[in-house]
Amino acid sequence: MEKDLDAVLTDFPKDKFRDHLVDWFLSEKRDLPWRENKDPYRIWVSEIMLQQTRVDTVIPYYNQFMQQFPTLSDLANAEEEKVLKAWEGLGYYSRARNLQTAVKEVQENYEGKVPSTIDEISKLKGVGPYTAGAILSIAYGVPEPAVDGNVMRVFSRILTISDDIGVPKNRKIFEKAVKALISHDNPSAFNQGLMELGALICTPTNPACLLCPVREECLAFEKGLVNELPIKSKKKKPKPLQLVVGVIQNQEGKFLIQQRPENGLLANMWEFPTAEVESDTVQKNEILAFFLNEKYDLQSGKFNYLFSVDHIFSHLIWKMDVFFAKTTSNVESETYRFVTLDECKELPFPVVHQKIYQQIEKSLL
Ligand code: SF4
Repeated sequence: MEKDLDAVLTDFPKDKFRDHLVDWFLSEKRDLPWRENKDPYRIWVSEIMLQQTRVDTVIPYYNQFMQQFPTLSDLANAEEEKVLKAWEGLGYYSRARNLQTAVKEVQENYEGKVPSTIDEISKLKGVGPYTAGAILSIAYGVPEPAVDGNVMRVFSRILTISDDIGVPKNRKIFEKAVKALISHDNPSAFNQGLMELGALICTPTNPACLLCPVREECLAFEKGLVNELPIKSKKKKPKPLQLVVGVIQNQEGKFLIQQRPENGLLANMWEFPTAEVESDTVQKNEILAFFLNEKYDLQSGKFNYLFSVDHIFSHLIWKMDVFFAKTTSNVESETYRFVTLDECKELPFPVVHQKIYQQIEKSLL
């Protein structure tokens, strides 16, 4: 395909394409909070939040995050628990943790100034080729490609690239194409124009070709291939995982919560004690009792079923059965605490466990 791409690029009307895209972006761009200025820190935060999350969802989180952590040093010096709390609801919490690790690195190694070269910026935690290209082009005017799934879709159509956009190694092909076409006068408007085109016009289904600023140059439109491209392999279905959750209340009416391990999914967040099980009900009770009995002297010696709740991640589904028990124990440790439901709300809690305390609030209190 690379040979074909070279041939396509040779004949492609590059200047016309660039001008149409950049002019359209400059006149039609949406007013978004991260476009207020070229502060690389603000752009960085927006790009991390926008990964796997829609613009409309991100805006209120972004505004609130910027109020809480207006500068890079505010974020670098913040407690991790506060950062996770501000991120709560956006999901993919490793993004927040990596972002904070990286801004600390910028503070320590680059005197608080976000690096402006591809080599330096790419070394920061959580900064992949897309984020690096977006920050460099938008904040510093460096002509680096910023290729995500949207840009691959748009380029697949414009240049009729038939390589599967679901295969990670094919990103290189699209980066090469963007490098060949990017505007050196205004790389920021070019990259943002591509992103905006993918979001508003060249959408996954029913692209609005009749409103498209680059329709004249678009090869898929010319050849009637708009509905055939891009080629994208199907994602694997999320794997179901059976979990039991213990809502355990002490004699003061407080609930036991535990902190998740510092690595892996939802790292360091708080939750009601949770264990993975086979689906059989009797076994669930046994596992819960075993899980907690040693430390927690359960009054009834048995958990009562409350309700079930599912939560879908990109790669797995948590199928959770929630049980209730009373305890006379008050034992706490670094990773186990007894708290009121109001105190739960002050801690970083995964959304599905928030659903649980909301249900408990309704049914138990
Ligand atoms: S003409 Fe249609 S397919 Fe081509 S870039 Fe524009 S919206 Fe996408």
